[in-house]
Amino acid sequence: MISTYHRPQTMDEALALLTQPNTVPLGGGTLLSKPTTDSVSVVDLQRLGLDSLRANGNEWIIGATCSLQSLLESEHCPASLKTALKLEAPLNIRNTATVAGTLVASDGRSTFVTMLLAMDAKIEIIVNRQSSIVNCGEYLLTRPSGLITSITIPLNVKTAFQFVSKTPADKPIVGAALAQWNSGRTRLTLCGYGKTPLLAMDGTEADGLQEAAMNAYHEADDEWASADYRMDIAAVLAKRCLAEIS
Ligand SMILES: Cc1cc2nc3c(=O)[nH]c(=O)nc-3n(C[C@H](O)[C@H](O)[C@H](O)COP(=O)(O)OP(=O)(O)OC[C@H]3O[C@@H](n4cnc5c(N)ncnc54)[C@H](O)[C@@H]3O)c2cc1C
Repeated sequence: MISTYHRPQTMDEALALLTQPNTVPLGGGTLLSKPTTDSVSVVDLQRLGLDSLRANGNEWIIGATCSLQSLLESEHCPASLKTALKLEAPLNIRNTATVAGTLVASDGRSTFVTMLLAMDAKIEIIVNRQSSIVNCGEYLLTRPSGLITSITIPLNVKTAFQFVSKTPADKPIVGAALAQWNSGRTRLTLCGYGKTPLLAMDGTEADGLQEAAMNAYHEADDEWASADYRMDIAAVLAKRCLAEIS
């Protein structure tokens, strides 16, 4: 339950408010506004100008408060990322939920974050008033609390996203995202299971992609599917991703 609401006009004001106990950033509020017994103070980020989408050379700098839908509608959004965004949440939520809020709240079924991890996105985050840039994998490992200000993804990569789910609009039981750079560097990530999307491979080329996919999900057993099933499907999806970008 939100007990106190702040809407700072400057970044300095926001950072000062966020030093107060039990006070967190408010993005789209789709998660924070859900009824809970715990009370929390929120710092609304909407006046801080963090909602810009900017291409800079081979990079796409996505402001933390950009909505998932504005990203999807951008001319720079690759088709694979559009697919992942549509699976992340339905239209009404996409119009409100922010990219940073979605990253922070993500679990292993997040298709959007699976694409970010494949593209080796860089996360700009302010912790104790110190700004730093961490890669998405590092962020997901430690999930530091702080204020995310932007997410940067490369524009000069080929990407693919393939998935299997109960229905076409449902979150995947297994999803695979692939990014390949001109140098041959190939990153494969998986979703559909666990607390966070998994990096299955980060190689200098695509050799061993299917084996890596299988290995990554060898313990991915839950009420939705067995690990054996997920291993087989992950390998098939990895192959399909590679075919898609070839
Ligand atoms: C009907 C409905 C269905 C949903 N279904 C799903 C679902 O299937 N799967 C799922 O994963 N989620 C689901 N959600 C949760 C929610 O939609 C997503 O997690 C959403 O993307 C969160 O984004 P937001 O901007 O609204 O975040 P908020 O609710 O504003 O915040 C979420 C978290 O992120 C933090 N945060 C926000 N912005 C920043 C920032 N810039 N820096 C640091 N921390 C920040 C907040 O402090 C909070 O901890 C659903 C929500 C609703 C209302």
